[in-house]
Amino acid sequence: MSYVNEVIERITKENPGEDEFHQTLNEVYSSIEVAVEQNEAQYRKDALLERLANPERQIKFRVPWVDDEGQVQVNTGYRVQFNSAIGPYKGGLRFHPSVNIGIIKFLGFEQIFKNALTGLPIGGGKGGSNFDPKGKSDREIMSFCQSFMNELYRHIGQDQDVPAGDIGVGGREIGYLYGQYKRITKQYEGVLTGKGLTFGGSLARTEATGYGLLYFADEMLKANNETFEGKTVTVSGSGNVAIYAIEKAHQLGAKVVTASDSTGWVYDPEGIDVALLKDIKEVRRLRMSDYAAERPSAEYHEGRGVWSVEADIALPCATQNEVTIDDAKDIVSNNYIALAEGANMPTTLEATKYLQDNGILFGPAKAANAGGVAVSALEMSQNSERLSWTFEEVDNKLHAIMQNIFKQLDETSKKYEQDKDYVAGANIAGFEKVVDAMQSQGIV
Ligand code: GLU
Repeated sequence: MSYVNEVIERITKENPGEDEFHQTLNEVYSSIEVAVEQNEAQYRKDALLERLANPERQIKFRVPWVDDEGQVQVNTGYRVQFNSAIGPYKGGLRFHPSVNIGIIKFLGFEQIFKNALTGLPIGGGKGGSNFDPKGKSDREIMSFCQSFMNELYRHIGQDQDVPAGDIGVGGREIGYLYGQYKRITKQYEGVLTGKGLTFGGSLARTEATGYGLLYFADEMLKANNETFEGKTVTVSGSGNVAIYAIEKAHQLGAKVVTASDSTGWVYDPEGIDVALLKDIKEVRRLRMSDYAAERPSAEYHEGRGVWSVEADIALPCATQNEVTIDDAKDIVSNNYIALAEGANMPTTLEATKYLQDNGILFGPAKAANAGGVAVSALEMSQNSERLSWTFEEVDNKLHAIMQNIFKQLDETSKKYEQDKDYVAGANIAGFEKVVDAMQSQGIV
């Protein structure tokens, strides 16, 4: 058995029940096999793939808090500090009832390679809780965030581990977490990113993941003699990534006709009204059914169905494994040109393979959605120098980073004779950088 397959088997067996982590391990390790083969004896001797697949540290803790009725609630908190070869651990916090150690490890593992691709000095980590923010009052959210930080603070720091947002964690939650960190430690430091603009946040951080996705996809299209101009785009999700992906797609001359949430989706043939969507989601915190009720051109459908709509480019921006094999078949039969992942691992392994085999340009998440964490790293730079850059300055840097990420994927896929396989390009390019840093630092 090849070294890669041996390690996949061993790590899977040693970490039972962590399905999403097994999935990303399979995807990444299978696609780097061509690069591993060239140094197999050395890597095997150094147990390099085993070390890379085992987090440096994983922390699990109790989060007790009191709800508005006076009832004590208990959730579980996690922080996985996966790999610090190229910088302090960096990655978001996810608050969602589905969160478990397998989800956090999948996200943390992806983050290692994503962060390497940005070219910035950030290692990989991820955290979160099975806390469900849906339907909670502001006071309950604050109470939870404060309790979460009462434990987390001892594990993080601006040069150690710098969390940020992810699903269920946005500006409001980062504010409460930051306030509590500062109160406990007396440190006003860049320990979290995605902060508000009045207390060390970076301009363009809110837009970064969605805008970055479009900058990346635009490069991928251009390299294949296509553009966004005049194209129809389907987007899933309606959170931070989706909103700013839609906004930038419109700026690039495309029309986005869908958006969704966990209960249903909207088809809006006149193009999603971004101002209304922002008001519904960011200000009033309502559902897509409310968007449809206020937008005459929109049709609301219960359940799933975004990919059954005929369009040119698909941008899944909701959550993991939302694009199944059946969706992939719809995407192919509807003659899409490309799919770029805004969410983390939104496409199943089987669906990814089907799309690639059928000639759909496929932009993998760890490259396509790296804009968020890239601007987080720029927020860290600004915090360190105690300065704030203009929106334009940050946006220009983001654009250049995304162009460079696509270039790395393109060149790496060609170098390994897997032209246009951007999944292999992303995994190998990220792997080579992290491995070089790990090898240089000895057996740690
Ligand atoms: N949660 C985002 C991601 O998946 C951003 C992480 C960060 O800004 O640290 O990359």
